Amino acid sequence: MCGIVGYIGENRALPVLIEGLKRLEYRGYDSAGIAYLKDGKLEIKKCKGRLACLDPMVANETIDSHVGIGHTRWATHGEPNEINAHPHMSFQSKIAIIHNGIIENYMRLKDWLIEEEGVEFKSETDTEVIAHLIEYFYEGDLLDAVYKTIDKMEGAYALGVIAKDEPDKIIAVRKDSPLIVGLGKDGNYLASDIPALLQYTRNMYLIENDEVVVLTKDSITIYDELKRIVERDVFEVTWDIESAEKEGFEHFTIKEIFEQPKGIYETLNRRLEKTNTINLDGIKITKENLEKINKVYIVACGTAYHAGLIGKFAIEKFAKIPVTVDVASEFRYRDPFVDENTLFIAVSQSGETIDTLSALREAKRKGARILSIVNVVGSSVARDSDDVFYTWAGPEIGVASTKAYTTQLIAMYLIALQMAKTVGKIEEVYYQEIIEELKKLPEKVQQILDNEEQIKQLADTQFNNEHVFFIGRSVDYDTALEASLKLKEISYINSFAIQAGELKHGTIALVEKDTLVMTIATQSKLFGKVLSNIKEVKARGAHVVAIAQKSNQEILKVADEVIFIPDTMDEVAPILSIVPMQLFAYYVSLARGNDVDKPRNLAKSVTVE
Ligand code: GLU
Repeated sequence: MCGIVGYIGENRALPVLIEGLKRLEYRGYDSAGIAYLKDGKLEIKKCKGRLACLDPMVANETIDSHVGIGHTRWATHGEPNEINAHPHMSFQSKIAIIHNGIIENYMRLKDWLIEEEGVEFKSETDTEVIAHLIEYFYEGDLLDAVYKTIDKMEGAYALGVIAKDEPDKIIAVRKDSPLIVGLGKDGNYLASDIPALLQYTRNMYLIENDEVVVLTKDSITIYDELKRIVERDVFEVTWDIESAEKEGFEHFTIKEIFEQPKGIYETLNRRLEKTNTINLDGIKITKENLEKINKVYIVACGTAYHAGLIGKFAIEKFAKIPVTVDVASEFRYRDPFVDENTLFIAVSQSGETIDTLSALREAKRKGARILSIVNVVGSSVARDSDDVFYTWAGPEIGVASTKAYTTQLIAMYLIALQMAKTVGKIEEVYYQEIIEELKKLPEKVQQILDNEEQIKQLADTQFNNEHVFFIGRSVDYDTALEASLKLKEISYINSFAIQAGELKHGTIALVEKDTLVMTIATQSKLFGKVLSNIKEVKARGAHVVAIAQKSNQEILKVADEVIFIPDTMDEVAPILSIVPMQLFAYYVSLARGNDVDKPRNLAKSVTVE
């Protein structure tokens, strides 16, 4: 969470900082600020609210500063207000810093600074201690002071530091929060992620954990934990800035929903040979490795966790290996049964989700083999894994994950099928049948998107609901969970998902006249059962909207409204059935006048625990 950016070079720093922050705003948007050096002094401008709140303060483009740092915040410590906004300044105004992460021992450090130095704290943040500590340790060498400071800090952080007495540099630090550095012609940059810098350079250094970087206008030096210089290859970004732009769509969210046929096609295409065999090139799990594996853990958060649930279904069904799916923030605290016979699959769009990363490291310590499914090349999760399956969704900017999810599902199916084939647990005909069906999905998703109008109309009549239920059985329940999360995130409607058969064990008490019950009913084997569940809620006055496969016309007799998806194999139906639900969430959010791309209280890449 939080976006950080920095620039030092020939150009004016302020426009660079503001442009960079614009592209990082999805990471946090409750307040924003910049710090820069001008005429030998550190200046800070910050405000509560969206980034635009800075506009009047920086309207004077002629501010002639060539070194600065900027921040867009997602508050963890202290309410979103101007004082708590970053950058934070040290007690004698010699140091300004920006921070992404949490300093876990900040209370102790704060008490110590108050007692020892009589430092007066201005904000409620954990971050402010860092600025004071750096100044406390400063004796004419900023790099040295930064090292002494991080030695005292526990927690996760990406930092940008500038100092009044060393105006020729920015120092950046990374521990468990993302950080990249860009090499430009007219200066050098730092940022939380690649899109923030793409308009300036394609050449980046991916900074590793515990590294410290000194940026000057014409050099970048990376140091390791022990202050030894590290050599790093330049990482050249090959994708275009346009893929991180809205391209005529009103929001990133809807653009990304519409990019799903392409994302699914690309993700499949990179892994499928003409002969319909799956190539997991770069994934080095051998037959021997797989034969040793007696259980799989899939660990993730939010939407990626829901992809994990479908992954469990696919691996258990095709490869017949038991799978446990866990929420990453819980995994570490329940003494999981992980050992060298465990395959641990981490799923994360950004590859920077700190809970997932920490869980992965824990599993690695216990000897598990780590396979990750991530969208961002070179991200922390990818780098810490034995094997990586990259999804080809392209940059996902909308906070509510859509195309990352469907491509994660593709990854899950391909991994499951390949595991099954390697250990000889799947019939060739069945394997081929599923691959053939996967190949048809981009076209089928497109057909659902072409039916957008029906879903928009449904949203326009249902946007005022106070609560919404999503029900389903088996994988349809997993889809219901994701559909419900989508709606919650961007519409703020109190929605929740429940197994259709479980309703009558309590929750049905909440169903009353006109309660909207969205029913996912794609599984032919369970169809009769779901029909009964629909009848149960209808008997209590519910308004039922069902999502079903096209040839299932019988459902028209029981549901009030039906959204049909193209016919498909039941096994892969989750890739289709979520799409109308994403559209529904989007249009409900729009009808309620919400900021779809930047829903309240959320941020895109969750880099705090
Ligand atoms: N903990 C810091 C604050 O609340 C930074 C938050 C973050 O990175 O999300 O200001």
